Amino acid sequence: MSELWSAIVNDLTPYVPGEQPTSNNVIKLNTNENPYGPSPAALDAIRAEATDSLRLYPDPQAQKLKAALAKFHTIREAQVFVGNGSDEVLAHIFHGLLKHDEPILFPDISYSFYPVYCGLYDVAFKTVAVNDSFEIDLDEYPSKNGGVIFPNPNAPTGRALSRDKVKALLNRNRRSVVVVDEAYIAFGGHSLVDLIELYDNLLVVQTLSKSHALAGLRVGFAFGDSKLIEALERVKNSFNPYPLDRLAIAGAVAAIEDRTYFESSRDKVLATRERLSTALRGLGFEVLPSQTNFVFVSHKTYSANTIAQALRDRSILVRHFDHPRTMNFLRVTVGTDIEVDALLNALRDISGLA
Ligand code: PMP
Repeated sequence: MSELWSAIVNDLTPYVPGEQPTSNNVIKLNTNENPYGPSPAALDAIRAEATDSLRLYPDPQAQKLKAALAKFHTIREAQVFVGNGSDEVLAHIFHGLLKHDEPILFPDISYSFYPVYCGLYDVAFKTVAVNDSFEIDLDEYPSKNGGVIFPNPNAPTGRALSRDKVKALLNRNRRSVVVVDEAYIAFGGHSLVDLIELYDNLLVVQTLSKSHALAGLRVGFAFGDSKLIEALERVKNSFNPYPLDRLAIAGAVAAIEDRTYFESSRDKVLATRERLSTALRGLGFEVLPSQTNFVFVSHKTYSANTIAQALRDRSILVRHFDHPRTMNFLRVTVGTDIEVDALLNALRDISGLA
């Protein structure tokens, strides 16, 4: 605390990202990065852009990227917003579309950044409990609200909601913005992007971080009615008109256009996820059904903390959250087959788990 701080800073509880170790000798299964790396075409495009042109500001509208996304989803460019990772896109959404008289609603077990944005932008919120199977129960979301936001598939549970369930919510919730955070949609579940034509209060958020292995480039998007996008543009242009640099725009366009590479790396992740889930069940873990590039697991005998620590001692990082309902769970990113084998061997090695 300092007298020099603005008053709001005292009350902030900032988000704590998963650890990024400095050593290369660590198996990193803690932040849901894609283990297969970006498309070679995206890397070539980034290299080609690293020229004298960097002395010039980038296109503040990132028109080429909006055009590539609009083409990919068969929507209009005016229905696309782009930002510096979906975290920044979400920040603008909380700021520009979710602050009203009524509190917004989101699941009690969900992306832990949501309450942080509420703190930063002074947005009132209520959480709605996920059921005992850790599924979001949209029937429990009252229609009187300042907005609704949830990841689909949810994080950190990995569970996805059907299109029909989200549609039912949209049909009865017409007066506030419904944000579906599809950070993990590439690995399962059904995207709702096509529904933005039907529901002018639906905003779908996506990212290249996991699906296209570009977490380091920071590229995220929102798709929705042009009026919602206009609100986000107004916030963005009052904050930072150039959220995406020249390298990011070039790399993102090339990554989106390289569908073959995306599909082959996604298929590898999906195959390894099934192998990992089966093997973990064999070691006494409960594994929630996952539609994402991670699994959410708890062990019958050993506490999540004990296992996380024992894995850390063997240079393997997984994520543990300090939430009362999920204290006994670990979130494990699906790595390469070699990384997953190392994890399974370490678990067998940890006394009693074999
Ligand atoms: N939404 C969810 C549900 C996430 O798990 C993440 C990743 N931490 C994000 C959004 C943000 O991803 P990024 O900023 O890398 O696009």
